Amino acid sequence: MDVNEFTKQSGTVNMETNRTEMFKEFDATELYCPRCKRAVPVRKRLLLILQEGDKYEYLCTFCSESVGTKMDRHEKPISIII
Ligand SMILES: [Zn+2]
Repeated sequence: MDVNEFTKQSGTVNMETNRTEMFKEFDATELYCPRCKRAVPVRKRLLLILQEGDKYEYLCTFCSESVGTKMDRHEKPISIII
């Protein structure tokens, strides 16, 4: 493999990967914050773990105001072993 070509390519890939991970952390979401009066990047926080799924809360990254919630439902089938 051409070393120079490899370095050039891996540099680009790393940059893309970092950007993707950043979006993953913020759940790729911008929500309207009533306190900041604009769309803001949000932080996802686990609020409740329920039988049917996990409930997350979205917090404004600037003022930590709660700007929304989301339910991540578990798709696991219920099986009872006797
Ligand atoms: Zn805010």
